[in-house]
Amino acid sequence: MLKLDNHASGRHFLHIPGPSPVPPRVLRAISYQTIDHRGPEFGAFGLKVLDGIKKIFKTEQPVIIYSGSGTGSWEGALVNVLNPGDKVLFYETGQFANLWRGLAQRLGLDVEVVGKVGQDTWRWGVDASVIEERLRKDTQHEIKAVCVVHNETSSGVTSDIAAVRKAIDSLKHPALLLVDSVSGIGSVDYEHDRWGADVTISGSQKGLMLPPGIGFNALSPRAIEASKRSKFPKSYLAWDEILESNKTGYWPTTPSTNLLYGLHEAMDMIMAEGLDNVFARHQRLAAACREAVNAWGLENQCQDQECYSPVLTCIATPEGMDADVLRKNALEKFNLSLGVGLGKLKGKAFRIGHLGDCNELSLMAAISGVEMSLGSMGYKPKASGVVAAQEFLK
Ligand SMILES: *Cc1c(COP(=O)(O)O)cnc(C)c1O
Repeated sequence: MLKLDNHASGRHFLHIPGPSPVPPRVLRAISYQTIDHRGPEFGAFGLKVLDGIKKIFKTEQPVIIYSGSGTGSWEGALVNVLNPGDKVLFYETGQFANLWRGLAQRLGLDVEVVGKVGQDTWRWGVDASVIEERLRKDTQHEIKAVCVVHNETSSGVTSDIAAVRKAIDSLKHPALLLVDSVSGIGSVDYEHDRWGADVTISGSQKGLMLPPGIGFNALSPRAIEASKRSKFPKSYLAWDEILESNKTGYWPTTPSTNLLYGLHEAMDMIMAEGLDNVFARHQRLAAACREAVNAWGLENQCQDQECYSPVLTCIATPEGMDADVLRKNALEKFNLSLGVGLGKLKGKAFRIGHLGDCNELSLMAAISGVEMSLGSMGYKPKASGVVAAQEFLK
């Protein structure tokens, strides 16, 4: 047996913002026997999954399910709706926006980046007026797509996607709106149709409580139209054959059968709790986490009160304290995994994930682990974060 956990007893506290803990029910579903992906049983099952996932994205349109990851689904979105050399506008909210932009550059797209004016753009939600001003100058409609990250996992900032759509529409600009909600879907409200996203990109291992291994592209009629004109070379990621096969509940290639069992189960759990209740639970846990951060006297990476992420909290370590040493202490002493500071936040910040299969007491364990780790490094908090979060939650 593979041994990955060096603690003799108790469970591991996985509080990184994805992969998130996989509930036992989902693990059991994944362990069902793999069936024939061309057999009669599979088609009925496939249709159920393809229908169920639409409710999660709040769309009537098709949702593509890839065997892959969030990154593969970023690529899927770009190569299906764009043409080589197209101009694409990226809004920088953090490291994930940057990684997606880097992928676009490698594909040969002509990338332009905007961000919050006069501020550290990694600390604020998307300012739709910045996108509006840029598009206003684009009288020739050279910009073919606007790319934004809904829940920026590197900084703990959640942006208003409907506002971006409104900005594009106010100018009658034809640019497509491509949205990364890899860490948002299943944890924070997302309305693909109503907010007017053309492609929404997601993955399995964050709010959907699955292991890594599947990715999503939710489509719009305009995205499907654009895909018919796209000249990007593609095959595995191309939507046309997948959409055709999906009509009867199948895939052109072998899908991740067991992960789809897990997805079916996870969607069942989310729908039984109720999407709104799931979102409210995340908001409540995130608010409790922020109470702890304030009590510690530490700084939240997100400066935008309207945009605090319900999925994770990114916390700056005090001057002189290496966030990676803090994380190492938390793991070795308390069996608690915290998220790393990504990109320019490396060593300067850590992240507490409170997404997916998380409740009050699992959050309290994480907060307690952080508080003890801070203490073990000689940090004297202003007040106890554990007590502050408890006061809030009780
Ligand atoms: C995790 C994540 C990704 C990347 O997904 P992978 O599954 O690691 O490829 C992209 N965007 C955001 C916002 C993420 O949180």
